[in-house]
Amino acid sequence: MPEGLITRALSSFYYVKSNNHLWECKARGLFKKHQITPLVGDRVIFEEINDQQGYITEILPRKNELVRPPISNVDQAVLVFSVAEPDFNSTLLDRFLVHVEKAGIPSLICLTKLDLIEDSTIIDEKMDVYQKMGYKVVKTSSKTKNVEELEKELEGKISVFAGQSGVGKSSLLNALIPSLQLETAGISPKLGRGKHTTRVVQMIELPSDGLVADTPGFSQLDFQGIDSNTLGRYFIDIDQFSDRCRFRGCLHVKEPGCAVKEAVENGEISAERYSHYLDFYEEVKEKEEKK
Ligand code: GDP
Ligand code: ZN
Repeated sequence: MPEGLITRALSSFYYVKSNNHLWECKARGLFKKHQITPLVGDRVIFEEINDQQGYITEILPRKNELVRPPISNVDQAVLVFSVAEPDFNSTLLDRFLVHVEKAGIPSLICLTKLDLIEDSTIIDEKMDVYQKMGYKVVKTSSKTKNVEELEKELEGKISVFAGQSGVGKSSLLNALIPSLQLETAGISPKLGRGKHTTRVVQMIELPSDGLVADTPGFSQLDFQGIDSNTLGRYFIDIDQFSDRCRFRGCLHVKEPGCAVKEAVENGEISAERYSHYLDFYEEVKEKEEKK
């Protein structure tokens, strides 16, 4: 039986792509019994009824799974931040990074609206911190169609864009896919259009052989499922010092002999990142105490 990729889901129909051909498939009852729902992004085995329709018989193991949007096997989260209008927000970036690290998804930091600033020294310095941690950063402008670097990073991968509303996510997709406006004729090409109408989850194919979920991810950034004891793991800069702390399970707040605080003092960990850690820690702690 052939193997394919679910690129679109619409109520109980799944559109499975295999060998550049699309099959409209239904899931066999089997999944309902085991309480697994096929997701866009799933690699599946399907049984052909004819050359247009089929039945999904098996979902291959997922490497990860997002709740919002409901997709699986994401290769990367593209965290979109404008350098102006709205201004770059490092607290929000660190918040997003906690969520992608928790989900176990690699991330790409994508700055956009570069055309709005004359001098990028300040933002470059801020990005330096993230690049040193190993995060990749690309700079774009949809206005000047400066998206080549981003395009390369999306090649052959399943990506989900994330970012505050207004930062320029839809504009980037339109710049990447010149035909997108035409394909969505009559419907605003804005992301998230499916949210208030029928529940459609789909991926947009990029000319460079990559797929992008058409709904931005990580819209819920309230640290659900993250507790105060584990928050530090999702700060990759903090986490790498944690096994040098005097106490096992050190939370890097007030404990003596904390290697993280030491690293902040001698500049190995950014003071801003650490202060965000403390803020988030308080936030999570407060929530736990209310329960
Ligand atoms: P989204 O909510 O993240 O999808 O953001 P949009 O793509 O809808 O963009 C929000 C606003 O920013 C729109 O008015 C766009 O025209 C504008 N915008 C988006 N990208 C750029 C850019 O690269 N440069 C400039 N100057 N404006 C941009
Ligand atoms: Zn510590």
